[in-house]
Amino acid sequence: MTTPTIDRQIERRLADADVRYTRGRRVVISALAEADGPRSAAELSRVIGESVPLSSLYRSLAVLEEAGVLAPHFSSPGLTRYELAEWLSGHHHHLVCICCGIVQDIEVADGLEQRLQEIVADIAGGVSFSELNHALEIEGHCAGCA
Ligand SMILES: [Zn+2]
Ligand SMILES: [Zn+2]
Repeated sequence: MTTPTIDRQIERRLADADVRYTRGRRVVISALAEADGPRSAAELSRVIGESVPLSSLYRSLAVLEEAGVLAPHFSSPGLTRYELAEWLSGHHHHLVCICCGIVQDIEVADGLEQRLQEIVADIAGGVSFSELNHALEIEGHCAGCA
């Protein structure tokens, strides 16, 4: 379930973008809020069922991405997965299974995140790039595939 706070934030963002927060879009958002990582249209459809037809699911994902509510994730060639944008879900990183393709969110403890930020700043600073954000992708095998 989406929390009331997240739901209100989304309502406001969509109203600003002149996008209606339809029942279908609420279902998509709610399914993504419950997922533990980015999901493709097909993966979402398996969870949501037939209450939202696949064509309308694709359209909702595109509209919600355009409005800045969803962020795309491109770890699998030719396949886009979506998740709530970081301003809604909070800063996190991803575990990508190279075997089954599943992508899982991972939050890093404050101390570690601090060290990560320092490393990223060092790397970016070394090439005169002013970094704003970063995302770590850890590739490997999930528990099911290991
Ligand atoms: Zn796997
Ligand atoms: Zn994520």
